[in-house]
This record gives sequence, structure tokens and C-alpha cells, in this order.
Amino acid sequence: MKLFTASLATETNTFSPMPTSLKSFAVARRGDYSTHFPFKDAVVALFGKWARARGWEVFESLIAAAEPAGKTLKAAYEQFRDEILADLQTAMPVDAVLLDLHGAMVADGYDDCEGDLISHVRQIVGANVPIGVELDLHCHITRTMVDNATVIITYKEYPHTDFADRAIELFKLIMDTVEGKIRPTMDFFDCRMIGLFYPTQEPMKGYVARMKALEGHDGVLSVSLGHCFPWGDVPDLGARTLVVTDNNLGQAQALAAQLGRELYAMRKTAYPRYLSMDAALDEALAVQGIPVVLADVSDNSGGGAPGDSTFLIRRMIERGITNVGVGCIWDPVAVSVAMDAGVGARLDMRIGGKMGPMSGDPLDLNVSVLGIKENAVQYFGPDETRQDMLLGHSVGVSANGIDIVLISNRTQTFSPEVFTNVGIDPLQKRLLIVKSTQHFYARFSPIAAQVIYVAAPGAIVPDFKSIPYQFADRNQYPLVDVGEI
Ligand SMILES: [Zn+2]
Repeated sequence: MKLFTASLATETNTFSPMPTSLKSFAVARRGDYSTHFPFKDAVVALFGKWARARGWEVFESLIAAAEPAGKTLKAAYEQFRDEILADLQTAMPVDAVLLDLHGAMVADGYDDCEGDLISHVRQIVGANVPIGVELDLHCHITRTMVDNATVIITYKEYPHTDFADRAIELFKLIMDTVEGKIRPTMDFFDCRMIGLFYPTQEPMKGYVARMKALEGHDGVLSVSLGHCFPWGDVPDLGARTLVVTDNNLGQAQALAAQLGRELYAMRKTAYPRYLSMDAALDEALAVQGIPVVLADVSDNSGGGAPGDSTFLIRRMIERGITNVGVGCIWDPVAVSVAMDAGVGARLDMRIGGKMGPMSGDPLDLNVSVLGIKENAVQYFGPDETRQDMLLGHSVGVSANGIDIVLISNRTQTFSPEVFTNVGIDPLQKRLLIVKSTQHFYARFSPIAAQVIYVAAPGAIVPDFKSIPYQFADRNQYPLVDVGEI
């Protein structure tokens, strides 16, 4: 028996001015990614490991992943797609295909890259070979994807700490399909909502628990909720429930509709609470314990923002707030200057605010260099499946009682190592500012006295009514309340 695997993933912010090019992708090719840093623990590497343990032959095609930014260039998407398809032609005949994709990748001329890729794979393997697809929950589930895949499973958790749990579920369902134990049928329901939900909080925590409780009995094989990616302006933008059943399409459709209506009924309470800068700082300063973690969600590079906005730092300086750690500002030039100056140096530096108006003005500060770490790393996910996330070179600088971590590789903030890497003790800080929408939560919430989400100015302010959609269906909550669905 032979399994074919591939992975192509980026989340596209169609409003971002930074194009996603071939060079934006970290890439590993046939056969070398099971040992290739940082892909050794990637989902496709897990698929290969599990299949080999069952005595299968595995054909590992491309794995390519890019930090979220603007549209992928047409030639880049087509080159990656065609490489995967050429590998598949070489590998044929195969008994199953497993793909690890994002679900919100947009390229010039392709609003639904994943649907396009899956349908091309289907054309090659024919109608009877099962195709399993794992997607990020920030996906736009489309008819093309569902009609061409056999089973689609999205992450349920955000932070996406469950990528390996969903992968093993998908793997087992595809193996059961190959062995004729099940015959998957699936469909989705449009929830009429632009979704950005945190399953770490109620009522979404309970909703995810109910989704899980439905799985594994009465013919229900899998239940997913694609939240959508609110800054991906495509016709299929929107939250969608997706249900996979065993040879009962009507049951899948009915359950997807039931769960979609249940979500819509929760629309007034399902969204997270965001505070303005001053309200967030006031609330944080009133907390007894330390550190209080404030998430600067509007400048999360994981959502395609630059990661160099200065609004919160400027406001804290204006208010005289001290004993603060800020992680991280993407500023390769400042990193280079501080590394040249060396630890202990004191110098005038211009920091952040370089990528455009939504980054704010640069900060001109007299800083001391606290620490330097070359090729710094932070972590994501549970310890057993922990993934290394690369920061590039990192420097800690201090000015006005605020310690700022600068990085050369654009990425969101995942773990407290961003501070300890450069000699800053996060546990001793009154406030920790992290540039992340929710992934920080997995590794910061255990040390946080409290977590507060801040809607500062920035490139991805979580106010959907202010997003200038041209292609998405505007007849969705919270743009409008469509009543009963
Ligand atoms: Zn995501």
C-alpha cells in the first residue's frame, strides 16, 4: 500500500501590502522533511511515521509554509502546485492521499488555492482513492474542497495545540476508508458569520466540547468548525460547520445545519472582548498579581500584520508606565545596529513603525542593550509535539522602564522564551505586551496573573465593520444581523 503526502500552507491577508513570494516559503522536498528543521514535527511528517508503522510505503512530496502576508504570487503558487502534482504522477498508483493545508491561501487568480489543489489531485488519483485534508480552523471551507476531498478535518482549538490530535483522527479515518470499514460522506453549512472565536473561553469552550461529544458514534465520524479568516476578502469568507458521516449525506447536512444554527444563536456572546489601549492599560494596572499579559492583536504577524507597530509602547511612555516587557518588534535594521553595538552599549535608536501608517510612527529612544541571541527560538504546542518557531536574531533593549525584544524574522509571539532569550525575566514584569491574537495563550496563560486583549490601532484591528470588503458576502453577522438562518 502506498500513501502520498504533501503540505502547502499560508494564510493570506488580502489587504496586506507585503506579497508572498517563492522566497517567503520555508521549503523541504521529497523525503528530507522528516529530519528537516523546522519540519521534523510537521503534520505530514507524522502522517509518514504512522503509515510506515503500518507497513505502508510513503511518498513524501513538497512541504512549503510561509508566514501570513499578502496574496501569494501566481507563479509561486503554480510552481508549488505543479511540483506536488508532478510528484503525484510519479508516485501513482497510490492508495491514499493526505494533505496538510491551511484553507485560507489566496494567490493572484486563485481565491481558493486549496480547492484548486485538491481538485487537481482528485483528477490524477480518480474517484476511488481517498483524499484526507487537514485545515487550520481559520479557513474558508468551499464547495470545491468538499466535493473533491474524501474527509476534511479542521483544528478545533485556538491556540492550535490540537494539530497532532486532528492529524491522527484524519489518518485513522482515511485508513478505515481504505480498508472498507467506513464510507465517508460530508457536507457543510454556512453560518452567516464572520468568525473570530476563542475556544479557551465560554461559550465557545462548551461549543467545542459538544462538537467532540458528537464524534465517534451514531455514524458521525468528524465535526469541524471553519471560523474563516476575516482579513481574507474572498467570496467564500465566512464561518462554516462541516460534518463527516458514515455513508449518510443527509445526516451530515442536517447535523452541520443544526450546529451552524446553534453557533448563530450564540452570536451576541461568541466573540472575544477587546479593550481600547487606555482601558486595557487601566484594567491591567489594577490587577494585583504580575505579570499581566496584554495581547496586541492588531499587530499579529500571524494574521498578516507587519509586527512593528509602536502605538502601545508610545502610549505607555506617555503615561509613564514602567516595568514592562514588549515582545516582539520585527525590525531587522534595529537588530543589526544593536548587535553591532553589543551588550551593555547605550545608544540612540529608531525602533519599529517602518512598514506603513498602520505601524504608527517610529520610536526614537535612547536604549541600553540588555542581551543578544543569534538564531533565537520560541516554542508552540504541547511538550510532546512541541514545535520550534524561529525568531532569527533577537536583541533585548531597554528605555524608559520598558524592555523591548527586537527580532529579525517576522513572526508572532508564542512563548516566554522571547524574553528569556535576551536576558529579560518575564515573571518580574508588571506588564507583558505580546504581538499575537491568541496563539500566545498556550504558553503565556500559565504564567499570567491575567490576560487582556487589546484592540490598539494597527493593520488587523478586530473590528469587522471597518474592513473594506469587496468580494466577501457582506450579508453576515456582525456586519448585519440576518435574523433566523
Ligand atoms: Zn489559524
